[in-house]
Amino acid sequence: MRKKSISLGKILGIPIGLDYSWFLILFLLSWMLAVSYFPIEFKSWSVAECWTAGIVTTIMLFVSVVLHELGHSIVAIKYKIKVKQINLFLFGGISEIAGEPPKASAEFWIAIAGPIVSFLLAVIFYGLQTITVNLPFLFGVFKYLAFINLILAIFNLIPGFPLDGGRIFRAIVWGFTHNLHKATYIAAMVGRFFGFFFIFLGVLQIFNGDIANGLWIALIGWFLESAAMAQLQQQVLEEHLTGHTVAEAMTNDYAIVPDDTTIQEVMDNHFLGIGRRSLFIKKDNQFIGLLTLHKIKEVPADKWAYTKVSDVMISHLETQKVDVNTPLWDALTKMDKNGVNQLPVMQNNEVLGVLSRESLITFLSSQGLWGNKKVA
Ligand SMILES: [Zn+2]
Repeated sequence: MRKKSISLGKILGIPIGLDYSWFLILFLLSWMLAVSYFPIEFKSWSVAECWTAGIVTTIMLFVSVVLHELGHSIVAIKYKIKVKQINLFLFGGISEIAGEPPKASAEFWIAIAGPIVSFLLAVIFYGLQTITVNLPFLFGVFKYLAFINLILAIFNLIPGFPLDGGRIFRAIVWGFTHNLHKATYIAAMVGRFFGFFFIFLGVLQIFNGDIANGLWIALIGWFLESAAMAQLQQQVLEEHLTGHTVAEAMTNDYAIVPDDTTIQEVMDNHFLGIGRRSLFIKKDNQFIGLLTLHKIKEVPADKWAYTKVSDVMISHLETQKVDVNTPLWDALTKMDKNGVNQLPVMQNNEVLGVLSRESLITFLSSQGLWGNKKVA
């Protein structure tokens, strides 16, 4: 799988990842601080001092964001929820938590922990600022960090999902209604509202001549809106898949070839023209692996004539598969988790069919979710 982030090691057993987009913000923020904020605030500073302060401040902000995320993660771990990783990207940090919190109170405390950490950091940096009045460099860095951590705490408390405030809001609605679906729906709608509101504010600022800030605010708004929308779509999808099993959505449109078939043969007979994306491989009538178009692409075309499918296939031991009775939602989650587009449907090591994203869409249209538009 393609790696989009750099690993920075682990804290409390949680892997910390740095998305490449973070470097853009590292540069932009250091630059903004070095050429605009510090020269205005501290007129006697040299260019070198402004840049050093800019870079140091940005790195300290990065540490602050990691601490904010660790706040979420530590509370999640207290509730026995696994934290997969903390990722830092263009708009800040994200703690990737496995699954939904088990109850409203867990979600509430996990969500509020981050802003509490940011608020405490603001207080600590404010304290440091007051005792370094005679040390202009440290004073300048601490002053900005106190300010930006306070902004982080307040911004994250805006009640629009997926911001922390949106999660707190969802937890409260969840606690009162005892209905997670309803709570998610309401919180995501409010999240979309705030997304559009930020886009509107950004555009307004652009028209007022503040292009850089306006663009930034509009971009954050767009990010919030699309995250809230993705949450809504997932919700609708989950509702439509709940209560159905793999057996209802799998197809029997698959092919099995013997293990000694060559790549060239399967390309000619199964992939080209027919448009199949995967094949099952058997040996002595036993399923032994899965061959995907993706895997074939790793072999140079001039070797196809004498490379056997068994040399390129994904062994059945490594193949992600599902049982006919697996709930559809679990199967889709498995596809997403493993980054695959199809899953062999098995029973007692025998192939019964394939569940693919296409077959899921076909199933959903048959359920009236897509494609059956009413014409007046
Ligand atoms: Zn947070």
